[in-house]
Amino acid sequence: MSRKKILFLLSDTGGGHRASARAIEEGIEYLYPGRYDIIIEDVWSHHMVWPIRLMPDTYGWITGPGKPLWAVLWKMTSYQSLQKGMFGLFSPMVKSSVARYIQSRQPDLCVSVHPLMNHLGLQWVAHAGLDIPFITVVTDMVSFHPSWICPQVDRCLVPTEEARKRALSFGMPPEKLAVHGQPVGLKFARLDGNKSRWKTRIGLDPQRAAILLIGGGEGYGQMYRIARRLSATVQGSQLIVVAGRNKKLKERLEKTCWGIPTRIYGFVDNMPELMAAADLLVTKAGPGTISEAFIAGLPLILSGYIPGQETGNVYYVRNKKAGVYSRSSKKIARLAQEWVEGSSAVFQELVGNANRLARPNASLDIASDICRFL
Ligand code: UDP
Repeated sequence: MSRKKILFLLSDTGGGHRASARAIEEGIEYLYPGRYDIIIEDVWSHHMVWPIRLMPDTYGWITGPGKPLWAVLWKMTSYQSLQKGMFGLFSPMVKSSVARYIQSRQPDLCVSVHPLMNHLGLQWVAHAGLDIPFITVVTDMVSFHPSWICPQVDRCLVPTEEARKRALSFGMPPEKLAVHGQPVGLKFARLDGNKSRWKTRIGLDPQRAAILLIGGGEGYGQMYRIARRLSATVQGSQLIVVAGRNKKLKERLEKTCWGIPTRIYGFVDNMPELMAAADLLVTKAGPGTISEAFIAGLPLILSGYIPGQETGNVYYVRNKKAGVYSRSSKKIARLAQEWVEGSSAVFQELVGNANRLARPNASLDIASDICRFL
């Protein structure tokens, strides 16, 4: 008997959408080994017409230095009339090409893990002549873009209660909604809290507190400035900087003399180990990174956010008292120093709150919910 196929639709904007699809894939394979074929397709880059297919390449710039423009675009496209216009514009350009692709793969179920793949995704599947279940897995934590919500899908899985309320406000029928958490890799669920052992395992000093600095998959934000301040201020600690795909930042960091033991990495594939070894995380407010940090019990200092989809994450972390937000590198370094070297009661409270927000089984719960439809 041939295996049933699950097709994930996404666009590689940032690192989070693919990381989420992979985490769900891992969950499906864990629960139902060998039963399904999983296909993860970057629809935008592979099937859009030139030059629109190059749009994801500008995502790093537009959500980094071009943030003010992103904020305007995000707001404008939140109005339903403009959204309709946007989909009306894109739809004819790709409908046949994506529909042909979907037809050639003959999936038994489609999952969208991207805001642009829901309304359009349903159209593509219909155009391909398929009558199969279509599921949205929202991978933004709180203030997701309204285009995530297409009430016609069969199921919509969201990461938080706040996101569920937002989905309802955009017309998603309550019976189609479930809150399972943010899909993150299963390795995070297997971490134990023995920090010294993890530090030794990855070659860090087990006696020193470790501060982990991340800027999402693309290495966004004021990472260089923050790293310098941390190194100058939190003298008793050690620093791990993950520059992601930001090659320029990595080179600059590598050329710098550091006041404390410092490890510089590019894009890493051992984030679970790094988070297990770290005592504190300084990061932009990416939903994947925040959810992973909750599972690792890491207090957060949020140093920036992408306006729109990450704005709500800042409020979420602050309101749940799992971390703070500051854009000032000076304040970030002072806070890190207070937390790492100061009162352990404050620190333990933050760790406890992060642990309470953790959903280590999210990928498994999402996987099981999706496979019910097959
Ligand atoms: N990540 C990774 N290696 C890196 C940098 C980031 O595996 O070197 C992962 C990180 O653990 C998270 C994802 O990439 O799962 C980033 O997702 P997030 O939603 O935080 O931010 P985005 O990059 O999508 O803006």
